Amino acid sequence: MPIEATKKIWMDGEFVNWEDAKVHVLTHSLHYGMGVFEGIRAYQTPSGTAVFRLVDHINRLYDSAHILSIKVPFEKEQLIKATLELVKVNELTSCYIRPIVFLGYGEMGLNPLNCEVKVAIAAWPWGTYLGESGLNNGIRVKISSWRRHEPNIMPGASKATALYLNSALAKVEALKAGYDEAVLLNSQGYVSEGTGENIFVVKDGVLYTPPSSLGTALEGITQKTIITLANDMGLNVERTTLIRTDLYLADEVFFTGTAAEVVPINSVDDRQVGDGKPGRITKALQEMYFKVVKGQEDKYKDWLDYVS
Ligand code: PMP
Repeated sequence: MPIEATKKIWMDGEFVNWEDAKVHVLTHSLHYGMGVFEGIRAYQTPSGTAVFRLVDHINRLYDSAHILSIKVPFEKEQLIKATLELVKVNELTSCYIRPIVFLGYGEMGLNPLNCEVKVAIAAWPWGTYLGESGLNNGIRVKISSWRRHEPNIMPGASKATALYLNSALAKVEALKAGYDEAVLLNSQGYVSEGTGENIFVVKDGVLYTPPSSLGTALEGITQKTIITLANDMGLNVERTTLIRTDLYLADEVFFTGTAAEVVPINSVDDRQVGDGKPGRITKALQEMYFKVVKGQEDKYKDWLDYVS
């Protein structure tokens, strides 16, 4: 689905018209993948539009840059303010927000240290990533033949642009084979994550999701949110390594991510998960997640930054 253009994009400190937010073809990051980005969502709430966990996303953006030795040439506060203003100037009620930090035109070669660091933030209306039907009725996934990055090969803790080559290879493989999404294992065979989502298993009423110490998956903000919500609903959550057959034998499996939100998984490698329909716990967490992001749960209001 094509991106729905809005009016303005924030670039290096100012708002420019959507069609003028351009970069040179010799932009360093285009050639070597040295960039970091975020995916954030804003939702309509009873008190106006609010960005969900904005500070957490901006903190992760700076952490991602730090891992790559990129110094972001703005203070965090400036990017927080720019994000909120961007949603406002584009008159968006709910949207997806994409900040990106990248290396610009100037020098070529693999030493990035002399390159100019550029920052842009765009926002546009974007429906749920894996589709409304997937969100409501569940999706079919496949274990990818591609393995997830190892932390000493590519730092999965950084949401770096180059890492998404691995995700895109897995995504295309899964789509061409007729599935909705891929699940990647790490090189030891442990379940890592989806191409742009973290994964949860429900078994006998307990939730399981891979530990950060696996080092191959992004530490998801939605994953963290779901852990908190599940705990507050009285559910136990364990960060533990999972293998492929744990997914086959689960009562429920679901993905989490800012773009994807909370998506039930009905089958893995054509093995039905549970009764092959979105599970009860998945549905309850999905429902609670939407209430929280849409400002309908006072308890979690601290996670919302209002646009005005
Ligand atoms: N893993 C990967 C590889 C991702 O790209 C994303 C999306 N940012 C996630 C997990 C989920 O992270 P979050 O919940 O913070 O969006």
